[in-house]
Amino acid sequence: MAEECILCRIVAGEVHSDIVYQDEDFLAFRDISPQAPTHLLIIPKIHITSSAELIEGQQELVGRLIMIARNLAEKEEIAKRGYRLVMNCGPDGGQAVPHLHLHLIGGMRLDDRLG
Ligand code: 5GP
Ligand code: ZN
Repeated sequence: MAEECILCRIVAGEVHSDIVYQDEDFLAFRDISPQAPTHLLIIPKIHITSSAELIEGQQELVGRLIMIARNLAEKEEIAKRGYRLVMNCGPDGGQAVPHLHLHLIGGMRLDDRLG
């Protein structure tokens, strides 16, 4: 756990979040500042700073993140109409929280802007 990382603190239960899914390795919860009716963050419980820090052998972790998002989209009943999966990386990518996370955003028509 990275001491100062807000998402590690959520994993540790030190900071409250509205959890919608968890297993041994992953956690999903509602974004504190939702950009759409459904806005979830899916994260690995281990601290990985961003996609730039992924290493060989973590393909399965990335695949599982997407499958969890896919399943949560079904559960939130947004799968049929569609949704957006976003993973920001670093300053130019607009990543504010340096712990790898996948945004699942949907429940309304999203505009065409990137990010
Ligand atoms: P990023 O810009 O890094 O891709 O996205 C970070 C996201 O984390 C933002 O959408 C922001 O609203 C969300 N966020 C930041 N702090 C917290 C928190 O303490 N709890 C929750 N649930 N979401 C947070
Ligand atoms: Zn972390």
